[in-house]
Amino acid sequence: MSMENQTIPELNKEELLEKDREHMWHHMSVYNPNPMIATEAKGSWVTDIDGNRYLDAMSGLWCVNIGYGREELADAAAEQLKKMAYFPLSNSHVPAIELADKISEWLGGEYRVFFSNSGSEANEVAFKLARQYHHQNGEPGRYKFISRHRAYHGNTMGALAATGQAVRKQKYEPLAPGFLHVHPPYCYRCPFGKTEDSCGMACATLYDDVITWEGAGTVAAVIMEPAITGGGVIVPPAGYMQKVREICDKHGVLMIVDEVICGVGRSGKNFGHQNFGVQPDIITMAKGITSGYLPLSATAVRKELADKFNEPGFNQHFRHVNTFGGNPASCALAVKNMELLEKEGLVQRAEELGKELRQKLSILEDHKYVGDIRSFGFLAGLEMVEDRGTKEPAAVEKVTQVIVECKKRGLIIGRNGDTVPGFNNVLTLSPPFSTTSEELDFIVNTLKEAFDTLQ
Ligand code: PMP
Repeated sequence: MSMENQTIPELNKEELLEKDREHMWHHMSVYNPNPMIATEAKGSWVTDIDGNRYLDAMSGLWCVNIGYGREELADAAAEQLKKMAYFPLSNSHVPAIELADKISEWLGGEYRVFFSNSGSEANEVAFKLARQYHHQNGEPGRYKFISRHRAYHGNTMGALAATGQAVRKQKYEPLAPGFLHVHPPYCYRCPFGKTEDSCGMACATLYDDVITWEGAGTVAAVIMEPAITGGGVIVPPAGYMQKVREICDKHGVLMIVDEVICGVGRSGKNFGHQNFGVQPDIITMAKGITSGYLPLSATAVRKELADKFNEPGFNQHFRHVNTFGGNPASCALAVKNMELLEKEGLVQRAEELGKELRQKLSILEDHKYVGDIRSFGFLAGLEMVEDRGTKEPAAVEKVTQVIVECKKRGLIIGRNGDTVPGFNNVLTLSPPFSTTSEELDFIVNTLKEAFDTLQ
């Protein structure tokens, strides 16, 4: 077909909106009467159908780590699609082999990697693997998982059961049984009423009590993010993860670390747990692994555990198949993504940008409605309160107003998910690693202006 014959259809916003209202089931807000229709994105910026530009300080859903519009990634996927679009992973293909190898290298240890499509699925794999591991290790009674209040681990019945946010679960129960929750290391609102210098890290030692009282022989694993992200950016004190690791070892409990957000550079290290000097047994990752360009997730399992699946009598089976998991184009794109992050020093850059962002956010430190500012690598949370003394969580209208005022000024920020009523008062930031210093200034200055509309 010659170029002259090609007609590029004009985008008709009203028509699209009408179709959207008629047929789209949006994530979360089913009937979103006036969705932003995004059409293009480059670097840290997204353009909508009216040509308005927004700095996306959330990298979509915490995922576009490398930044939007990298043609190398599109090319890597396109080339692979032309060469071989699909092949199941009961056998193998080149991009999956290369990616499993690259992930092990980034983890700095000996791992085997199972591929799925989403963070939720990666966590489901982790749960099933952990249970089967204990079966094969002669302890079939270990079936429970210990997660934390406020954590988010996904939308499927197991991952949602692991999630510690009442509002997200209530209408879908009963979820998968066997999931327990403990307090998170939330120093700003210490659940034990203590202060950090004298607390003895009760939030970590609690695991010891819970495992003991549940009966160690019934507990399969703990699951935690290195820092709770979507649940309100809750960063543990130094030593917390090591303490939990020690308790797990004492009781023969596995440690699953959910790196769906913190992984692939977001924390300023390859993976979030590397900030705390622990080696998890199972690591799950998604989002940043392809920088959100295509769906893909992975569950990395320490070799020693994986070897259990190779012992006589167990038929080398993990009965879990996933049609699309490890799609060749997704894997090829992920390899290219990780290579570019390496080549351009972007993990290191994320660490530096994180420090710069935190420092710049200090202009909001004394603001009447800012109770606490927390950051982990290149992600941050601003906890809004009505009163800095009482720490009463800010009314939902105030939190919404800041988000809306930012959007009016061309800035997209996020908020923590529905934890329990009254507690979705943490604004979140997780910009692409392509963000510049000037763009960081834009983010904090815009936030400040938005906060000032509350006065
Ligand atoms: N774990 C964490 C920590 C997450 O933030 C998310 C998604 N926000 C998930 C798991 C689930 O990932 P997905 O939406 O890809 O299923």
